[in-house]
Amino acid sequence: MASVAIRNVRKAFGPVEVLHGVSVDIADGEFVVLVGPSGCGKSTLLRMLAGLENITAGDIAIGNRVVNQVPPKDRDIAMVFQNYALYPHMTVFDNMAFSMKLAKAPRAVMEAEVGRAAKILGLEQLLQRYPRQLSGGQRQRVAMGRAIVRNPQVFLFDEPLSNLDAKLRVQMRAEIKELHQRLRVTTVYVTHDQIEAMTMADKIVVMNSGNVEQVGPPLELYDNPANLFVAGFIGSPA
Ligand code: ADP
Ligand code: MG
Repeated sequence: MASVAIRNVRKAFGPVEVLHGVSVDIADGEFVVLVGPSGCGKSTLLRMLAGLENITAGDIAIGNRVVNQVPPKDRDIAMVFQNYALYPHMTVFDNMAFSMKLAKAPRAVMEAEVGRAAKILGLEQLLQRYPRQLSGGQRQRVAMGRAIVRNPQVFLFDEPLSNLDAKLRVQMRAEIKELHQRLRVTTVYVTHDQIEAMTMADKIVVMNSGNVEQVGPPLELYDNPANLFVAGFIGSPA
């Protein structure tokens, strides 16, 4: 596990700056939720943490290491996407073992690691199925399983529940929180849903138009919003 420091980070796409100097400190083992309206820059910031976008200015550190120039595969992070991004032609086992296969891990290691993740996620009976044979919730668990087998220092989630129906979304929130309580991996979780943010976060980062409006624990934001934007966003119903 590791702390994460985002220091005065800017991002421009061509002439258009979409992040205007964002700073956030994330403690080792903390569950931080980035929340804000569509287009405010959440995914861009997460992709910069993952190394999938380069940084126009500023620094990102994971643990004691500034990772601005470090490629995604060497960052010790694992990302879970909204659309799961499972390989349709591979079984659940092979989807979960894929990164280890690329790294030429021995079969016994793959079986042990996939087995461990499958047990945590209740996927033991589904390892020989294909993604099309799974429910939405099960697919989301497989996507999490792929992240868990990598034993990352940091988990990144980009709106992982937005394709699920409301009931399943509530259940998966609880499962992700349980997973965090069990593994204590530093987590950065993006959502545009303020209820999700309030129920899941140790600390919320409220973003708006490429800026951070406020950072704090859910109740502090609720009781003491820094400005009208935070008050309106946190206070309004989903
Ligand atoms: P969010 O995840 O909060 O909805 P994004 O990070 O996806 O927001 O986008 C932030 C802004 O950056 C938006 O205005 C979006 O149009 C713009 N943007 C994102 N990716 C690109 C890109 N590859 N090229 C140009 N503009 C982009
Ligand atoms: Mg997004």
